[in-house]
Amino acid sequence: MIKVENVKKAFGQTTVLDGIDLTIEPGEVVSILGSSGSGKSTLIRCINGLEKLNGGQITVDEFDVGKPRELAEARKRSGTVFQLFNLYPHMTVLGNITLAPIEVLKKPRAEAEATARALLESVGLGSRADAYPAQLSGGQRQRVGICRALAMQPRYLLLDEVTSALDPEMTAEVLAILAKLAQQGTTMLFVTHEVEFARQISDRIVFLDKGRLLVDLPTKEFFAADGGMAQPRVAQFLSKMR
Ligand code: ATP
Ligand code: MG
Repeated sequence: MIKVENVKKAFGQTTVLDGIDLTIEPGEVVSILGSSGSGKSTLIRCINGLEKLNGGQITVDEFDVGKPRELAEARKRSGTVFQLFNLYPHMTVLGNITLAPIEVLKKPRAEAEATARALLESVGLGSRADAYPAQLSGGQRQRVGICRALAMQPRYLLLDEVTSALDPEMTAEVLAILAKLAQQGTTMLFVTHEVEFARQISDRIVFLDKGRLLVDLPTKEFFAADGGMAQPRVAQFLSKMR
């Protein structure tokens, strides 16, 4: 379980997260929606231990992200894929995917490569293991990014606008992979502007507004007129997205 409790984060004088409470149970797919600047990426970065909290606590399976001794264990459990493909340009696809399993999990190379090839196969990139990132399309790179996160066998997958730098066709490719992962029971926390897709795959939808968690509802209720839509900010946001 990922547990976010009363989390506060400020950059200088600006409060970016203002008392966030959020729980993600194993097997859940939770989407985070909210306007630009509402704090979605910051929340993901906090869960991943990339930002120091100004208040509150985040635990991943009981491991406190804020405690230096527990951070590594917490991080092992949550794989993150970001908006921009941060693959190592000088390494092949296979090299990118096997790096952390070999270095961090101390897996034998042969085993790490077999896992990587199976993952690539599952996202339709079985033949591109020896390519370099520059030789791939954006959608293909993002699929490699997802494989790289999955190669660490994380309990939780955190995805921050993984399709926002892609054209519609490439977006569809990547969303298809995510839908498959959701069906397989992968736990996902999914920041996205793809409202329709979020509606299809999410168990719950969370809406952030100016650093506050305004709504946290099962997907169907979120979109109901007397549910999330009863919140003017949510209705306004959704009307702009469609
Ligand atoms: P978007 O939809 O545009 O990706 P977001 O909801 O992910 O937006 P964040 O990136 O979390 O928003 O940013 C929230 C606020 O925090 C913004 O006002 C942003 O300018 C500010 N912010 C984020 N990172 C930093 C930083 N390192 N230093 C200062 N301010 C920051
Ligand atoms: Mg963001």
